[in-house]
Amino acid sequence: MTESEVIIEFAKKEKRLTVLFAVSFAMFGVTLLFNVVTETYINPTIPFLIGFGFIFYGLYNYRCPNCNHLPAPLGGSGIQISPKECGTCGVKLR
Ligand SMILES: [Zn+2]
Repeated sequence: MTESEVIIEFAKKEKRLTVLFAVSFAMFGVTLLFNVVTETYINPTIPFLIGFGFIFYGLYNYRCPNCNHLPAPLGGSGIQISPKECGTCGVKLR
């Protein structure tokens, strides 16, 4: 995979993660609004759990296209959001 292919591929993953985040928050927000506006009550735990699943799925797929590792901060653990380069293999991600 060339450097520009890696950047394009990673941008797709990043976009998907952003969409999943947005959908999760929107779903939670709509449920709260729905509970206030209508007589029907939806337990907010349900969209919260679904949203959590979406975000988890998004983060699970948020990997370096080159080495397939989660983009961790250099020498650290956890996930780095919007990394400039992969902390594992050093490939440019943007
Ligand atoms: Zn990598």
